[in-house]
Amino acid sequence: MTDQHAALPPIELLPKDISAYRQGNRGVDYVHTFDSGQPGPHVIVNALTHGNEFCGMVAVTHLLEQGIRPLRGKLTLVFANVDAYHRFDPAEPFESRFVDRDFNRVWDIDTLEGPDETVDVKRARALRHIYAEADALLDIHSTSYAVPPMLIHERMAKIEPLTRHLRAPLYHVMLQGVKHPGRPLIQYGAFGDPQAMPVGLVVECGQHFARTSGDIAIGVTMRFLDFYGMVPPSLAAQHPPEPGMPRRYEIMEILVAKTERFRFAAPFIGFEELAAGTLIAMDGDEEIRAPEAGCTLIMPARRIIKGKDVVSLARRLD
Ligand SMILES: [Zn+2]
Repeated sequence: MTDQHAALPPIELLPKDISAYRQGNRGVDYVHTFDSGQPGPHVIVNALTHGNEFCGMVAVTHLLEQGIRPLRGKLTLVFANVDAYHRFDPAEPFESRFVDRDFNRVWDIDTLEGPDETVDVKRARALRHIYAEADALLDIHSTSYAVPPMLIHERMAKIEPLTRHLRAPLYHVMLQGVKHPGRPLIQYGAFGDPQAMPVGLVVECGQHFARTSGDIAIGVTMRFLDFYGMVPPSLAAQHPPEPGMPRRYEIMEILVAKTERFRFAAPFIGFEELAAGTLIAMDGDEEIRAPEAGCTLIMPARRIIKGKDVVSLARRLD
């Protein structure tokens, strides 16, 4: 592993003690389901897919502390990779993304039903039946570098009404036919099936340790719950989307480090638009260049791990 940029960002957002929420009501630690008793969808708000991405924890603890209950259907709140969360060390703030294996790259059946005994995969196994109940999943993340917040989802007709309603974040990044090594949670089971109804959506709320990322997570969560009629519209109205038109991007390719010697050619942070042929990185002796004009880098990894994805290359649609 190598760290691309050594300087650490300011840490404004710190972990909170969430031990009061360990005992849930689903027989799985850190999972709470609230049933309105009325017909309606089962909606999940998911925090801490990555242990050092605190904004989702801010949003979920906000819902719990405010005693927010669904007006219809069921609302489930999940703190996902709590083992990673509890390992946070402000001196090494990027080390607690996961314990042994990225929780967001294990959602294929071979991994879930295979021999892997890492704590991250065991936690995924404990939670998979909960996620499988969802009609809609909001998976809340943040980014290593300070880039604009974004929505990330598969390019499927079933997701469009939700993203139109959320509107912001105004950067919308779509996956279509490109695959990460290991399946992200939003592609698990029915979420990844265009013919099935359940919808999975990632929101990246800004830099991991920026206070604003917690505020954005709360706002997007309220508008997400409003879309499904779970909260009074007046509550969501307190969190209006930022003004402006969404810009949509489509991911063309997900680059995977083939060697330990993968190095970016410049200190990229994300959303750089490159001229065709611009050198993006060296992977050992191989040059990786922008395949077309306007090629946009999405979420370059801070830590490079051989065999893992390191950056996505996107094309702007509008
Ligand atoms: Zn994440």
